[in-house]
Amino acid sequence: MSTIDFNSYRATTGFNKRIRFLVLHYTALDFAGSITALTRGQVSAHYLLPATADPSYRAAGFSSQRIFNLVDEQDRAWHAGLSHWAGRDNLNDTAIGIEIVNQPTETPSGLHFVDFEPGQIDALRELAGNILMRYPDISPKNVLGHADIAYLRKSDPGPKFPWQTLAQSGIGAWYEAERKQAFIDQFTRQGLPSRSETIAAFKQYGYAAPADDAGFKALVRAFQMHFRPSGYSGEMDIETGAILFALNARYR
Ligand SMILES: [Zn+2]
Repeated sequence: MSTIDFNSYRATTGFNKRIRFLVLHYTALDFAGSITALTRGQVSAHYLLPATADPSYRAAGFSSQRIFNLVDEQDRAWHAGLSHWAGRDNLNDTAIGIEIVNQPTETPSGLHFVDFEPGQIDALRELAGNILMRYPDISPKNVLGHADIAYLRKSDPGPKFPWQTLAQSGIGAWYEAERKQAFIDQFTRQGLPSRSETIAAFKQYGYAAPADDAGFKALVRAFQMHFRPSGYSGEMDIETGAILFALNARYR
């Protein structure tokens, strides 16, 4: 084979990184269950963040917070499944996936979500910060929850996930408070935008358009869990609309 010359010429502009999304999940399983599912099943993720209070983590011989790499970043991990964001489908092709051990419980009134450990969030901040430094095509809007890209099927990482705190560390998108207030004032005077204008705004931000009323409610719920976690009934309201329009005003 002829010598490959890696040095004489290098493209400087017309290319980008394959990785452009960071997708965050909770496992809904303990550490032992997560390891089994993510290393021997039909799903995987690039990284797993355990919870130190989890007895199965201690039983595995660990105590302090660790970050486990399960799949090479350049390989395609199977964590997103059927998914959509900003005109793209099947985000596994272009995403890094991080699973966080956190177990909501099923109750008759729906999922009961539980807090993440502060140490998990500290570890995530380090890991995500490092990933974002290495993959500049992952814009703030492209740091996503599984529910954002698959809202009909998924709730993770759920309303207890500290999106706002992470955004303050430069990880992910958040709205500007003054812009939100300006839209609250506007919608209070004029009423909320129509359903079709609202769907257009969700699409502009990146969400898949819903197919029906149930889909719209699931979309609103996913958005609320991410950006307005104090209430995530899936019913549209003025604050939710104001946040959506404030995000679009900030991230054009
Ligand atoms: Zn997930």
